[in-house]
Amino acid sequence: MTSDPLWTQHLAADALDLVHERARPYLDALPDRPVRDVDGKPTLDDLGGDLPEAGTGALDAVAELLRIGLATATHSTGPRFFHFVVGGSTPAAMAGDWVTSLLDQAGGLWTASPLASTAETVVLRWLKDLFGLPSGHGGVLTPSATLANLTGLAAARWWWADRHGVDITATGFAGLPPMPVLSSGLVHPSVRKALQILGCGRDTVRVHAADGTGRLDLDALAETLAAVDGPAVLLASAGDVNTGAFDPIDDLADLADRHGAWLHVDGAFGLFAALSPVSAHLTRGIERAHSVAADGHKWLNVPYDCGFVFVRDPDLLTRAFGSWGAAYLRSGDDDHIDYNTRGPESSRRARALPIWATLRAYGRDGHREMVERHLRLARHLADRVDGAPDLELLAPAQLCVVCFRYRPPGLPADRLDDLNARLATEVVADGRVYLGSTVYDGVTALRPAIVNWRTTEADVDLLVDIVRETGARITSGGAHP
Ligand SMILES: *Cc1c(COP(=O)(O)O)cnc(C)c1O
Repeated sequence: MTSDPLWTQHLAADALDLVHERARPYLDALPDRPVRDVDGKPTLDDLGGDLPEAGTGALDAVAELLRIGLATATHSTGPRFFHFVVGGSTPAAMAGDWVTSLLDQAGGLWTASPLASTAETVVLRWLKDLFGLPSGHGGVLTPSATLANLTGLAAARWWWADRHGVDITATGFAGLPPMPVLSSGLVHPSVRKALQILGCGRDTVRVHAADGTGRLDLDALAETLAAVDGPAVLLASAGDVNTGAFDPIDDLADLADRHGAWLHVDGAFGLFAALSPVSAHLTRGIERAHSVAADGHKWLNVPYDCGFVFVRDPDLLTRAFGSWGAAYLRSGDDDHIDYNTRGPESSRRARALPIWATLRAYGRDGHREMVERHLRLARHLADRVDGAPDLELLAPAQLCVVCFRYRPPGLPADRLDDLNARLATEVVADGRVYLGSTVYDGVTALRPAIVNWRTTEADVDLLVDIVRETGARITSGGAHP
């Protein structure tokens, strides 16, 4: 026995007290601190070293983790992380997540945790209501939109193989042709990754883009679909990461109806457009899709990790993921759902609890208000870009992403890509705000996304100021201080 009474009951509460003590000052400081401390005292190297032979004890270990973690973490849960599409964590969701860890439920099986299973059923129902999806849809929580896409497409794949007379769950792909998958140019890499994992092949997606922005060429897609022999899968993007652009979901649903195709929608963050009358037109037709995937850790502002998917025919989820055939795993019924038969995970955390907490705390109104605040902030950012002589808006800002670039008058066009890539790197190195570059319609662009409940107009203004200041410094030849 070491000096640490390792298995003493009260130590868990003492260790939690340590975390709790640090939480308030950390959260209080978030609005004003840099996204990353450029010269925090401990470094990531402090995490390293050999596996300890004798442990240091719970309190020391947690204190050390806090010391290193608080100094070296990316403070992306704060208001000025505009890179990728990274949500924050509402107060209720963050505390709900602590409750999840406290209770440590095995959330895959009803018998292991009726609480986790019931909460999942309830939040899936609430989420369908929130987005205006039919109440009969089946659903499951996933760790991410990537796995939500995978889950929806696994249901599609089961349906498609069944149309060919094959039970793909039982016998796999043998004897089947490639699964036809059609999309616009907005298809997200995670959808390709899902197809790759499902054995359908990442590069089998037939892209129909009208131009360099990836916008759907509907006529071309309709033509391809008409020529496909047998059932096909159509992909719709609800919210492109570069610009927030949407495919015309209703038109794709018409085509799916006409040709008996499956329509899968990737609405990782864009599904939340359905929450506001200002943006709901973008998601028109989504209720007609066969599967809809989205993220919780983006615009819902629950902590990592959280995604969810809905499928029109709930049976298809169990067909794709159930039937394990293990004697000790018996399948539940609709009142006693084993969620490990509806998605790719077996053992899983009670991911529903933070969602339950945030929807209970703020309701439909609160989440709509958050989305609308972000829509206003994105328009404000676009207006500031439009009003600045050295910035150029590259796409309309219709959602929460604003795609633009730094373009000082007089600079040759062939220098702009390098300049904007370097600008993004230097802004990240500066640490006060975070953003990244992308390639949009052939040019290097910046594309901040606003989905964090903490973000204010002052944060957005600071972003614009820092971009312009950094751009001016680079073009005047000034070095990074
Ligand atoms: C973020 C995102 C994904 C992937 O989500 P993860 O949670 O990172 O797996 C898929 N599609 C779109 C449009 C996204 O923005």
